[in-house]
Formats: sequence, C-alpha cells, structure tokens
Amino acid sequence: MNEMELKARCEVFDENYKRVLENMNKAAQAAGRDVQEITLLAATKTVEVEVLNHAYRQGIQYMGENRVQEFLQKNDALDKNVHRHFIGTLQTNKVKQIVGKVELIQSVDSLKLAKEIAKQSKAQGIVSDVLVEINIGNETSKSGILSEELDSFLGELSEIKEINVRGLMTLGPILTNAQKKLQYFDKMQKLFIDNKGKNMDNIHMDILSMGMSEDYMTAIQCGATLIRVGSALFGARNYNV
Ligand SMILES: *Cc1c(COP(=O)(O)O)cnc(C)c1O
Repeated sequence: MNEMELKARCEVFDENYKRVLENMNKAAQAAGRDVQEITLLAATKTVEVEVLNHAYRQGIQYMGENRVQEFLQKNDALDKNVHRHFIGTLQTNKVKQIVGKVELIQSVDSLKLAKEIAKQSKAQGIVSDVLVEINIGNETSKSGILSEELDSFLGELSEIKEINVRGLMTLGPILTNAQKKLQYFDKMQKLFIDNKGKNMDNIHMDILSMGMSEDYMTAIQCGATLIRVGSALFGARNYNV
C-alpha cells in the first residue's frame, strides 16, 4: 500500500469512526444506557496494520481478528497497547499460537476447544479469559452451542480452572427483518442475565458480545456490552472472509 492509499483509507476510517460513535451514542441514549459501558471492538480482517495503528491512535482500543494466520501476520507490527481479541472459529490445532497473545478468545464453542485452551494456558502458567459462542438462531451453518446446551456446557467449563468465562458471544442470524433480529438479541440478553447471576467457579460473566456493522444499534438496544464492527469502520471488504 502506498502513502496515498494509506492516507485515503485513514480518511475513510476517520469519517466512519465519527459516524459509528454518533450511532453508539444515539442507540445508548434511546435505550437509557451509558455509552461508556459499551466497548467498540474493531473487526480487523483484511485491513492493513498501518490503518489499524492509525485507528488505534484515533481511539480504537480493542481489535479482533478471526483468522489465526492473519492475526500472527499483523501481531508484531500492531501497537502493543491494543487490546487483542480472537473472534473467529478456532481450530484446536491452532490454539497454541493464540493463547497468551490475546486478551480474550470470544469463540469457544466446544469442550474439546476449551480443554485445549486450558492445556496451553497451563503450560504458560496463565488463565485464559473466554466467551462462549452461542448459535442463537439454531442455524446448521453456524458455529456455537445451542442455547439449551448452555447450562451443561457452563457446568463443564466451571471445572476447568485455566479458563475464566467472561460472557457470551453470538454472530446472530443474517436477517433482513429487524424485528426478528431484535428477538434473537433479546434471547441472548436473557441468557446472559440468567447466567450472570449464577455463582459458579471460573464463570464471571460481564461481557455480552453481539452486533456487527449491520445491527450494532439493535444490539445496543438489547444490552450488548461489546460490539464487533468491521466494514462500518473500514469500508466494505473486497471479499468475504
Ligand atoms: C467480520 C466479523 C465481524 C464484523 O463484521 P462487519 O459486518 O464487517 O461489521 C464481527 N464478528 C466476527 C466474528 C467477524 O468475523
């Protein structure tokens, strides 16, 4: 990327960022929430690290990658103060490359994966913060556990001391119908609240991660504490990842 291209992309970001912050404020206000309790995480796939460091300087403190390889490619050049999350589907054989390098793994969707994260965390003498990914729309194409499996899954995770469950995450169904989307996000909020109050070992739920470029305002309305926004900040991606 040459200098002119970089400058152009940073300008696109600056404009988009302003709009996203305004929208977050609007949505929080409409919901009677304090916008300070909502974390904006930039979903950074396909975005060059120079643009990301610019975004960090403008105020984006949280960033999430969804591919291990891309994360590793950018990790060294990315400002060391950025809070790094892993937000994509994680294969067990790649866990080792991620544990200890990210602050939160948002996408734990099986006991096998949780156990591998625990194993690698133990080897490093750390405890890893994770979210449980929920397939809230019961879609066959989506990863995540079904909401009715959550109770027993949390029971199993509470036995694993190298893991600290910090909350729930969902991608949510891609729907054009805003009313339907609201229903799914409401279901997530209910699950979150029901489990937040439970007193279980290694489970301390304070993060509800939902909402992307198309629907983050709806997610804020339904209690999201962390939204993951990509294209609404950086512009449309050339290809789908
Ligand atoms: C890409 C991605 C996002 C953001 O998607 P946009 O529609 O570009 O905002 C959020 N979450 C995950 C897991 C992603 O991979």
